Amino acid sequence: MELIDLRSDTVTQPTPAMREAMAKAQVGDDVYGEDPTINQLQDLAAELLGKEAGLLIPSGTMGNLAAILAHCNRGDEIILGDVAHTFLFEVGGIAALGGIHPHTVPNQPDGTIKLDHIRDAIRPEDSHYPITRLVTLENTHNRCGGASLSVEYTQAVADLARANDLILHLDGARIFNAAAALDVDVKELVEPVDSVTFCLSKALCAPVGSVLCGSKEFITRAHRMRKQLGGGMRQAGILAAAGIIALQEIVPRLGEDHTKARNLASGLSTVPGMTLDTDDPPSNMVYLTLGDEIPLDAREVAEKLEAHHVRVGVVTKRRFRLVTHYWIDDQAIQETIGAFEKVLGDCS
Ligand SMILES: *Cc1c(COP(=O)(O)O)cnc(C)c1O
Repeated sequence: MELIDLRSDTVTQPTPAMREAMAKAQVGDDVYGEDPTINQLQDLAAELLGKEAGLLIPSGTMGNLAAILAHCNRGDEIILGDVAHTFLFEVGGIAALGGIHPHTVPNQPDGTIKLDHIRDAIRPEDSHYPITRLVTLENTHNRCGGASLSVEYTQAVADLARANDLILHLDGARIFNAAAALDVDVKELVEPVDSVTFCLSKALCAPVGSVLCGSKEFITRAHRMRKQLGGGMRQAGILAAAGIIALQEIVPRLGEDHTKARNLASGLSTVPGMTLDTDDPPSNMVYLTLGDEIPLDAREVAEKLEAHHVRVGVVTKRRFRLVTHYWIDDQAIQETIGAFEKVLGDCS
């Protein structure tokens, strides 16, 4: 029986069309800017997002890092959410490698940061303070249940940033999921921001890669930063070929993953022994917490689910994350609900 892997949408294997395109890709030395497939992907990404230029980066982590380093000087401060991926899960790279001071403010459950919290975090001119340089937002917001930030909210933060001479960067690892969830053109969602990264290697099934987009001038600086971080690649058109298919063929179907997440949540909502954050998940993520009556912790429950060929993400001692994606079909959703019923039924 095949494993139903719901830990993340990063586990998505490339599609047969991707493998074929990868095998046939025309390649060149990208450090010389001579890989035609990479150039095509970067142009396509920039066009889709309505930005002047794009840059293929090995990972989302390096994309955010290269962007923030290209925007800021050492000792500058950036404002970001306290459960932002860049704050929690990027190994402190902005501080360790860039000397950038993170100033965290609370993320609301819907992934937003209150405008007042941003305003209050901006440092006044004073020689005691670091210089506030940039604000980052995250869309969809991973730790906030996969919530989407609206066009209006993003614009409001951009207006506040502009009024204070701040740059706005968007960690859009799953920006196409946000566009699908909100049913808006992704261009509108990223129009207010100065730079944006998105991942090809998550829900989009490509094996490797993220794209950073912004103005031509910014991308020139980010290009230098990517090289400094060791992210200059050679014949990586083999990877970009999968990225092109991701944008052309996988982006338009992301709404299906959201429907599957809703079906999963609706099925799980009737299973005793746990509580969902919401039975109407905003995108492709379902978060749930074990009830007090369950004597096992999340890791132990996860082990038992594995015996039923279901693998889930353990977030904390009592919490799980389940992410639907391309390779999770309706039958897998039903089997997952069945596995939870069996495992929690056996131990309550
Ligand atoms: C996954 C993720 C990243 C980093 O991407 P990697 O390619 O895993 O380095 C950044 N931001 C968010 C919101 C993510 O979910």
